[in-house]
Amino acid sequence: MADQRIIDIVTNAPYDYAIIGQGLAGTLLAWRLHQRGRRVIMIDRDEAFTASKVAAGLINPITGQRTCLSWRLQEFLPAAIAFYRRVERELNTPLLHSMPLVRLLPNAKALQKWNTAVSDPEIRSYLSDPQPSPLVNPELVRISEGGGGFEIATAHILDVPRFLEASRKVFKVHTAEIDIANAVTADTHCVRVRTGDKSIIADRLIFCQGADGRSGNRFFDWVPFACAKGELLTIECPAMKTETRILNGTAWIAPIPGSEPGTFRAGSTYIHDDWSKTPTTAGRAAIEGKLQQLLNVKFTVTSHTAAIRPIIAYSRALIGMHPTHTRVGFFNGLGSKGSLNGPFIAEKLAAHLEENAPLEHELDVLKNS
Ligand SMILES: Cc1cc2nc3c(=O)[nH]c(=O)nc-3n(C[C@H](O)[C@H](O)[C@H](O)COP(=O)(O)OP(=O)(O)OC[C@H]3O[C@@H](n4cnc5c(N)ncnc54)[C@H](O)[C@@H]3O)c2cc1C
Repeated sequence: MADQRIIDIVTNAPYDYAIIGQGLAGTLLAWRLHQRGRRVIMIDRDEAFTASKVAAGLINPITGQRTCLSWRLQEFLPAAIAFYRRVERELNTPLLHSMPLVRLLPNAKALQKWNTAVSDPEIRSYLSDPQPSPLVNPELVRISEGGGGFEIATAHILDVPRFLEASRKVFKVHTAEIDIANAVTADTHCVRVRTGDKSIIADRLIFCQGADGRSGNRFFDWVPFACAKGELLTIECPAMKTETRILNGTAWIAPIPGSEPGTFRAGSTYIHDDWSKTPTTAGRAAIEGKLQQLLNVKFTVTSHTAAIRPIIAYSRALIGMHPTHTRVGFFNGLGSKGSLNGPFIAEKLAAHLEENAPLEHELDVLKNS
């Protein structure tokens, strides 16, 4: 596999697409193009911690303080489930884990808001029971006075690191840091990406750089990024060994697919003014403090990670081609909902690239920047 990759680069065998960034966005797009029979190479610097590598992969249909269905849920959720199930079959690897999510509310006022929201039959259709009780064992999990909660019947966890790793067996992934200012050229015939003393040549190039796209990309330096750093903990909590759901209250905890029972990912912070990718003492303390309000039992922190969520000002992912370098495209801004929104949006970009399908106004990078 590795030898073949080198030969392809040395002989400059053309690819239909080169994708810079093998995070969730790049990998989703690569699959959509591969499913159309296209030859794709991805180029990634293979950092230990990126948004996709640390992400919890939660897919939660009902979100936010306002308790509403996630943006375009009726389109995005079926597209995501169908996509991940298809890739699971192709890779013979489990990727998407379905489980209930318990939303615990902090007080009677919040509960009242939820009661109003769930009078909407559409929202109610995602709940296990409109008036469930009891949701959690109060010896293990704190229930606020006057509060309560609801169980969302099916939420999901995408095992993002496994999805990325397994996809590397399907796609050529060239490990390199690309200096976009100097090493990427696009003309009317093709696109060239210089890496070391070799060039990768492709018909088109798509930037899927995540939060790194916010600076140093001379093609798309006009896109208004508004990224947010996030920190996450991994905890071990033996008393919660039998808990197989996602719990979401002051903080959230989510079982980690493939890990020992009682091991959870827990988070997370949301910081707009720190672009370092290093975990901080303050971030850890913030999550631990919220976990102590959520859990009545002891837990141990076994790891602590951080990454930057790629958010674009309108909090929507954007896709499309450069206005003058028409062989150069963009897919970024998956924000905090990449696992849910990504497969549908990647399909829209692939259909635009391959079948010339028009881009929707609200997803078009040229109309929202
Ligand atoms: C703490 C945290 C928790 C999250 N939890 C969830 C969650 O529960 N559910 C959910 O759906 N989403 C979650 N997200 C968001 C989700 O992770 C992102 O939406 C998604 O991973 C973004 O993928 P991406 O491919 O756009 O970016 P990235 O994952 O950042 O990938 C970009 C890739 O491009 C590479 N790259 C960039 N520039 C270059 C270059 N010049 N040369 C070579 N390589 C380059 C990077 O190294 C990286 O590998 C979370 C994010 C964070 C930070």
